[in-house]
Amino acid sequence: MTNRDYLHYLEVLGFNHAPYTSETPNSSETVGQSDEQAGENSLMAKSKSSTPKHTQALASKAFDLDWTKLEQKANKCQSCKLADTRNTVVFGSGNRNADLMFVGEGPGADEDEQGVPFVGRAGQLLTKMIEAMGISRNEVFIANVVKCRPPNNRNPEPDEIAECSPFLLRQVQLVSPKIIVALGTFASQTLLETDTPIGQLRGQYHQSQKLVQKDGSPIKIMPTFHPAFCLRNPNMKKPVWEDLQKVMTDLGLTPTSLTQQP
Ligand code: SF4
Repeated sequence: MTNRDYLHYLEVLGFNHAPYTSETPNSSETVGQSDEQAGENSLMAKSKSSTPKHTQALASKAFDLDWTKLEQKANKCQSCKLADTRNTVVFGSGNRNADLMFVGEGPGADEDEQGVPFVGRAGQLLTKMIEAMGISRNEVFIANVVKCRPPNNRNPEPDEIAECSPFLLRQVQLVSPKIIVALGTFASQTLLETDTPIGQLRGQYHQSQKLVQKDGSPIKIMPTFHPAFCLRNPNMKKPVWEDLQKVMTDLGLTPTSLTQQP
């Protein structure tokens, strides 16, 4: 990516001053936040206690539901303690036949209120990033690892992730995307069933035997930093944009919005 491209990208994202740096994040840094945690909480704990364990949940909840029944099931779900404090189940939104899917961590306050993922500050940044790729938000499918807001925007806990992951994995099956962009630690570690920090995962494609398209082709998973982390650390927009450019190349996308912006 040229400096000019990056400056255009920052302009699209609404930044007038480029926080230019060539530094890459510390590979041991584990980051990721709920949609509305921007600027509030610090880095996520690098604890193995946050390790996703959705394999067991999958075995006990072998969803074979269509979209309608899956959404109905989620909307009535009481499977974990997040049901006690949520206002709305944030199921997911967008194109249910998309080639590209974005997966975040969990709803924040705005999402919990509106029932739509990524509508707060971090969501607005994600929308700009998607538009900078030359596509609209409606062309992709967006979901979270947990469908209900963790209280006070805390991190989702392992049991909550385990209970909720089957919803996400069934969504992935139904959408059957070519590529998933996993936003932040929890999405990346959950989808890839790993404890590896996001700083080491990001920037390259990964695959999971469980995540395949309807024709059996593997789904490419691109971990990158969560938009909330980018809000707190503007320098991280550059590596995220580099990751998204790899996705654009694979999908044959051109960043038309970059050239349309002043
Ligand atoms: S977070 Fe998921 S598992 Fe927990 S109550 Fe909500 S929909 Fe159910």
